[in-house]
Amino acid sequence: MRKKIIAGNWKMNFTPTEARQFVRSVKDRINSEKAQVVLCAPYVALQTVKDELAGTYIEVGAQNMHYMDNGAYTGEISGPMLKDMGISYTLIGHSERREKFGEIDATVNLRTVTAIKHGIIPIICVGESLKQRNDGRTLEVLRKQINFDLDEVAPGQVANLVIAYEPIWAIGTGVVATTQQAEEACAYIRSRIAEKYGDETANATRILYGGSVDPSNAKELFAMPNIDGGLVGGASMKPSFEDIVKAGELNG
Ligand code: PEP
Repeated sequence: MRKKIIAGNWKMNFTPTEARQFVRSVKDRINSEKAQVVLCAPYVALQTVKDELAGTYIEVGAQNMHYMDNGAYTGEISGPMLKDMGISYTLIGHSERREKFGEIDATVNLRTVTAIKHGIIPIICVGESLKQRNDGRTLEVLRKQINFDLDEVAPGQVANLVIAYEPIWAIGTGVVATTQQAEEACAYIRSRIAEKYGDETANATRILYGGSVDPSNAKELFAMPNIDGGLVGGASMKPSFEDIVKAGELNG
């Protein structure tokens, strides 16, 4: 049985002070042993959040990571920097990075390989735009992203990484994919992994759904056989995030 992951993506929200206040107010209620909770905070709040969560099961994640270990890359943050802080997860290739900051599959792949090298678990985000879905190209887009993003990653490593299926049209819009749409896409991603890396790897890989997950839809989504939890944006910054974590525990 794959343990569910409930990952919060705070995006560019919460100053370190606000992050501390929020974490203090919810940590006892989201400190789950049955589901893995990960809070992906802005870089400047990572240390504060990490300190505040000491002694809990909750892990802290970054929202991006450069693929070089050091050098002349002004404004960037490297794997060794995150590792030194005890950061165990990082989002990679979030659609907001792809759409607004020129992220492409080649750099998603480089970041993925580098994160694994440093023992940081990548949460690789994939998903189609509304136009691609309406054109009937969803599965083709996912196939291409999985092929490129996981290039050069060994089967044993694929089993430990996390993939988040995030249809772009559902992110931050309040429009959630239907349970069937989300399950179909996650099942397809798992079938691609099985084809490339074998059934054992595919059965171990955690595949999340992301896109307007909230307490009203989490339970149904997480009950689907190929959905191993959620990547949660807006709803991860509210006290009711607790209910999303509980939905992960129920189906874990
Ligand atoms: C996200 O930030 O990855 C996300 C899915 O956001 P939201 O839950 O707000 O749609």
